[in-house]
Amino acid sequence: MTTVRVELDQRAYDIRIGAGLLGRDTFADVAQPKARALIVTNTTVAPLYAQALQQALEPHFAEVLQCVLPDGEQYKDWPTLNRIFDALLERQCDRKTTLFALGGGVIGDMTGFAAACYMRGVPFVQVPTTLLAQVDSSVGGKTAINHPLGKNMIGAFYQPRLVVADVETLRTLPPREVSAGLAEIIKHGAIADAEFFGWLETHMERLRALEHDAVVHAVRRSCEIKAAVVAQDETESGLRAILNFGHTFGHAIEAGMGYGQWLHGEAVGAGMVIAAGVSERLGLLDPASAVRLQELVRRAGLPVEAPALPLQRYLDLMQVDKKNDAGNVRFVLLQGLGGAVLRAAPQDLVTSSLLAHGAI
Ligand code: NAD
Ligand code: MG
Repeated sequence: MTTVRVELDQRAYDIRIGAGLLGRDTFADVAQPKARALIVTNTTVAPLYAQALQQALEPHFAEVLQCVLPDGEQYKDWPTLNRIFDALLERQCDRKTTLFALGGGVIGDMTGFAAACYMRGVPFVQVPTTLLAQVDSSVGGKTAINHPLGKNMIGAFYQPRLVVADVETLRTLPPREVSAGLAEIIKHGAIADAEFFGWLETHMERLRALEHDAVVHAVRRSCEIKAAVVAQDETESGLRAILNFGHTFGHAIEAGMGYGQWLHGEAVGAGMVIAAGVSERLGLLDPASAVRLQELVRRAGLPVEAPALPLQRYLDLMQVDKKNDAGNVRFVLLQGLGGAVLRAAPQDLVTSSLLAHGAI
């Protein structure tokens, strides 16, 4: 087991990464022997891992309850969130109750938000079971649900007490979801660590085959990078925005295709290639590095071309993106591999990169 510390003063916490952590005594330091635990999970993950987590928690809590939600981004909403509160209130859970989010980013975001709200805040632990959740959504304390008028629009910054990433759980993940998680790993290398980017180039096949040592290293390095950014800017007043590399274009792809058609990581994959194209056109990134990024995205099993939507549709979708600051769309761009900057870009360069990578 390896540990990454997220340095946030009184809210600091550990991320534990390793194989077989659910079956081991990983949860002792969040133990509350007189209090209850509530495992929040979904109908896909529950039959796979809820029993193991239940057994791991039982020695540490007076009682361990479960709340099994339907599976899907479409259930990241108020009525489903309310089912967590129903479960807590029906059993008269008090404010010492600890919530455990067992699942992907949807379960993590909803459980975190429920923990932030229930009795004005109860402890929660992230037990991410998708690669995307292990390297991204479980770290950093963004919690949310969707509103019909916008994704992740209702939420809170609320840090977990502990994150436990058992890479063994990734074995049951569909390959498409593995690739989606790899997109965020590549992103972390591209914006912050050229050496790690090079390591990913060497080990991409091992990662796709979910070899333990390789996955532990990639999850660890990703979490370190994200944790370092979050420690400097917990609530995204500046630096944290670099984690959105590839996301302005990615969100446009997701929205343009209709949510659920492209996985978020797939859209980010193509989005990073387009953003690298803009960086190259601005003279921030050399052409060879842009090619390296595109190659790595492709080798991760991700699309490198945006879907063929009209150019104007993309431009319209990006104007409504939340990173649109007072009319100027600012992009996270690469300044060399391993460095990121936030910049407004001339529209003709944006257009040119979009047209070069799939827009029509
Ligand atoms: P997800 O939670 O929908 O999980 C993907 C699918 O895999 C689901 O069907 C899930 O049930 C299934 N699954 C989970 N673990 C499994 C396992 N071990 N074996 C087999 N199947 C498994 O999707 P995701 O990609 O994990 O997360 C996406 C969500 O995360 C989005 O809602 C996004 O907004 C959010 N997100 C949040 C942050 C943040 O900082 N809070 C960052 C990135 C993404
Ligand atoms: Mg993302």
